[in-house]
Amino acid sequence: MSKVIIIGAGAAGLMAAYGAALNGCDVTVFEKNEKCGKKIYITGKGRCNLTNACEPDEFFDSIVSNSKFMYSPFYSLTNYGAMDLFSDTFGLEIKIERGNRVFPASDKSSDVIRALTAALGRMGVKIRLGTQVTGLIINDKKVCGVKCSDLEYNADAVIVATGGLSYASTGSTGDGYEFAKCAGHSIMKLSPALVPLETKQRWVTQLQGLSLKNINVTFTSGGKKIYSDFGEMIFTHYGVSGPVILTAGSYIGDRVSAGGVVELSIDLKPALDFERLAKRIDRDFEEHRNQQFKNSLRGLLPAKLIPVIVKLSEISPEKKVNSVTREERNKLARIMKNLSCTITRLRGYNEAIITRGGINVKEINPATMESKLCKGLYFAGEVIDVDAVTGGYNLQIAWSTGYLAGISAGQS
Ligand SMILES: Cc1cc2nc3c(=O)[nH]c(=O)nc-3n(C[C@H](O)[C@H](O)[C@H](O)COP(=O)(O)OP(=O)(O)OC[C@H]3O[C@@H](n4cnc5c(N)ncnc54)[C@H](O)[C@@H]3O)c2cc1C
Repeated sequence: MSKVIIIGAGAAGLMAAYGAALNGCDVTVFEKNEKCGKKIYITGKGRCNLTNACEPDEFFDSIVSNSKFMYSPFYSLTNYGAMDLFSDTFGLEIKIERGNRVFPASDKSSDVIRALTAALGRMGVKIRLGTQVTGLIINDKKVCGVKCSDLEYNADAVIVATGGLSYASTGSTGDGYEFAKCAGHSIMKLSPALVPLETKQRWVTQLQGLSLKNINVTFTSGGKKIYSDFGEMIFTHYGVSGPVILTAGSYIGDRVSAGGVVELSIDLKPALDFERLAKRIDRDFEEHRNQQFKNSLRGLLPAKLIPVIVKLSEISPEKKVNSVTREERNKLARIMKNLSCTITRLRGYNEAIITRGGINVKEINPATMESKLCKGLYFAGEVIDVDAVTGGYNLQIAWSTGYLAGISAGQS
């Protein structure tokens, strides 16, 4: 019986174990934490957005780096394949929410971990918790096993599924990059991705905790649009976060990290063009004609945002609405259509949903996930240079690459 060792009991490693066990192999997973799936546990705010029920061929539009590499792994276990596997084989009830996001029906990420590990238990997969792999044993460009402090374990195939560098407390401390380097692999530049953004303007911090829905964000650099999106965001004590901001980070991150000036413009009223918004302001002002300006915006803006907009408009807060001039009204409308701030920095790995970069995909066979440089060595999950936007796509990358690596390693 061929022996397969998997390093890491995260999403990719657990799915790889399932794939290898399907082939009747002797499968052992080494996990340095005291429990499996520590990162799965915190996904989707504890609810685990485990995949996205988009049309399978639309999946690739959501992959930011190396989408072509993902063809073969994805079609070995598609999003629908993963949904069937979780519901029919692992017995996990799932549901589909807004944006095709798939969650366990219980809203508990722990149920995803439980379903997966229970299936592995039934298949005889061994999981060695609290066991850190410290290196690979490689002879003649072929992997023969792994080292754990002073012990060595031999194997016919080893799958590296150690994750990236984000949220290091979950166990993702970049060990897999070192293993890959020892096997001769190159690592593409690593950076935090799907990460909140810091801003220069002080008024942003006043809005801490304010969440905005149905807004449009546009990022520009040197007057050129680089990214635009519609959805939800939140202000924080250092800047901005939330779904549209995290996704934007994947497209503007390199420019910000390189010191480029990137401006964020928030359209608070995307459903109204400038003229219609100006008319709406006129209507509201007519209704509140004898009120002070600062008290006249309640129908238009969330309470927390009003003092900030009043300040930016430079209209005296105490001014009676009926004496606010046309020019001032237009300025107010312009600010609502273009509330702008400057992005200064990306937050770090500890707040990044994923790590961008990783093991060079050119050195991995996408039909099997096997290293092109070292026989019997396979890679799966975030440790590879593939990443996607939010919405369940990153876990799908882990399921697909893990499954293919497991199946292939089991056959080798
Ligand atoms: C807060 C947060 C929320 C997220 N929400 C979502 C979401 O809802 N949907 C989605 O699709 N994606 C989400 N993601 C991203 C997703 O969780 C990851 O892309 C995915 O979990 C990566 O899986 P992985 O198995 O490759 O790595 P990991 O989950 O990081 O697993 C790697 C495992 O390897 C172990 N390990 C590492 N080195 C060693 C070693 N030397 N020896 C033994 N074990 C080792 C680690 O302890 C860890 O358990 C989220 C991420 C974060 C941080």
